Parts: sequence; C-alpha cells; structure tokens
Amino acid sequence: MILVFRAGSTKDEVTNAEKRLKEIGLEPHTLFGVERTVIAAIGDERITSSEELAGIPGVEKVLPILAPYKLASREVNPNPSVFEIGGGDCTVKPHSNKVTFGGNRIPIIAGPCSVEGRNQIIEVAHAVKEAGATALRAGAFKPRTSPYQFQGLAEEGLEYLAEAREATGLPVVTEVLTPADVPLVAKYADCLQIGTRNMQNFLLLKACGAVKTPVLLKRGMSATLEEYLLAAEYILSGGNKRVLLCERGIRTFETYVRNTFALAMVPALKEKTHLPVLADPSHGTGVRSLVPAMTKASIACGADGILIEVHPTPEKALTDAAQTMSVKDFAKLVKECKAIAEAVGRTI
Ligand code: PEP
Ligand code: MN
Repeated sequence: MILVFRAGSTKDEVTNAEKRLKEIGLEPHTLFGVERTVIAAIGDERITSSEELAGIPGVEKVLPILAPYKLASREVNPNPSVFEIGGGDCTVKPHSNKVTFGGNRIPIIAGPCSVEGRNQIIEVAHAVKEAGATALRAGAFKPRTSPYQFQGLAEEGLEYLAEAREATGLPVVTEVLTPADVPLVAKYADCLQIGTRNMQNFLLLKACGAVKTPVLLKRGMSATLEEYLLAAEYILSGGNKRVLLCERGIRTFETYVRNTFALAMVPALKEKTHLPVLADPSHGTGVRSLVPAMTKASIACGADGILIEVHPTPEKALTDAAQTMSVKDFAKLVKECKAIAEAVGRTI
C-alpha cells in the first residue's frame, strides 16, 4: 500500500505513521517528495485494511501498489531516482570523484573485462579517463563458463583497482560472485556488479541489499522484465536504494551475435521503474565491430549510462577479447556519442 500524506504534513506525523506501520507488521519505506511525503508500506497486506491505514493522522489517501515489485515501481516513486556513486563509500584508498546516475548526464563506465595485472589496469584507467569515461569497470572475480579459463585475480585484482582509483579518481565498478565475498568486495569497490548469471542468486541479492555500496544489477540472460525488477526488489527491500539496472543482451536462437541486445527493454524498464537503466553493448553484441553502433543506439533509446569493455590491446585481452574495443576506437566513440546525447536532450 502507498500512504500519501496531505500537503504540509509534519515530520512528527510521518514518524508516528512509520511507528504505527511497524506495530501493524508492515515495513515503512518513506519518500520525501517536493510536494508530498509518501510511505510505501510493504508486507503481507492481509493483516490490515485501507480503512485502518487511512485513519493514521496526516494520511490523505491510501493506494494499492499493483506491481509485484513494490519499491522498484514507478507507482511508489514516479520521479526518476538520482544518486551518486563514488566519493568514499569504500575503505581501501577510497577517494574518488562522485558520479551521478539518473540525471541528465549519461555516465560512461569503461574498462577491461578483467583486471589482468597492476600495470594493465592503471594504464587502461588513465586511458579511458582521458577518452571521457567517468567510471572504471573490470572484474577481479570472474564468472567463467569453463573452470579451466582465467578466473580473475581475486583480492589482488581488487587492490590494483583501488590503486587505479587513487591514480585517476575514477570510481570502480567490479563484480561480486558470492554472498560471502560481499564485505570484501565492498571494501574496495564503489559499486558492486551482479552479473547476468547471478541475477536470481537470491542470497547474493540479499547480501547486496544489506550493505550501503551501490549495486549494478545486470539483466539475467533469460529473465523477463518482471523477474528482473523483482531481483532489484530484493536489494531495495534490504535497504539499499542505490540500484543501477543494465540491459546486457539475452539468449535467443541467433548465434551470429553472442547475445541479442534487447534494447527495447531500456524504455520498457524506464516506464516501469524509477531506477536508472544502463546498457552494455559489449556483452549485448559480443562483436567488437557492432559495439559503436549499439552504444549510440543505447543513448538514442534513453539509456542512463553505458558499460563498455576497453583494453589497451583488445586482441590480447584474457577475457571477452572479441567484444573489447581499443582505447583509440573508444575515444572516437565517446565523441560521436556526444552528438547523439545532444539530439535526445542529454549530455555525456
Ligand atoms: C562482465 O561485465 O564482464 C560480465 C561478466 O558481464 P555479464 O554478467 O553481463 O556476462
Ligand atoms: Mn566481460
């Protein structure tokens, strides 16, 4: 249920309502809007009634939340969520620039698929920053199809990422694979990535909901919109409000491309949720030559950020070489994206 307060309601009324909801057995999630305050009351609604909730002092009306994903829904929060990542949420070499997601500017998170070594990640961090990236990506824990493939440098890789942040000021986005690793990765990362294979790892979603570090949640490669937003709901309902969504392509019968980049999901998600929706044209296509066109298409269709794989020597990348761009091509692409962003009323 959504409790809408009358204009001019007092802080005390809101605090009392939160207390009352807890007594009833519902979890209050309060949103202070410009004109009005609303509380999303989440839980088993059979234990109360709209009449009871409408009787709480200060409440003007009570509305049902129709979507199964309550906190992720636009019904609860009609305005886009705008929040920052970076600026010192982590503990190891924490200083970085703050990057705003959900606003007019479209941040570009770039970097190699994996951290391969200290020099590689520091070199690429400087290069992508110079080319216009606002955050750095790279995996230290890699989810690999085969156990014989490079699995990532684990904590050593996280240390190099922290050094790259210190050297460039770019906030770091990096993947976490298991609930047990969440505290470790959160020590080093400005944003925890949950990969496509883990989108419905409910224990991992809960573990990421329990920390303060923002989360970039990729769409599962076979997930529906509703399953995807319910996965985000796990993180939000745990109390972590900074969730970035990211379309990264799905499995279809087509094998020419690695994944089918389902770009219609970007505007579809934006109709249904207030969370920022990013796009990942690297995994979305799996083919280097297709990445520039699909990056521009992502911006044109309303993506709130881009995640893209860039490497100093892409053909030698240890993971995802076929889809990884060179620094030179990335720099050219960022310039082209500026024109597309301007055409749709945004900036890079
Ligand atoms: C990645 O970003 O390198 C990655 C493993 O992504 P996904 O989970 O989308 O495959
Ligand atoms: Mn990758």
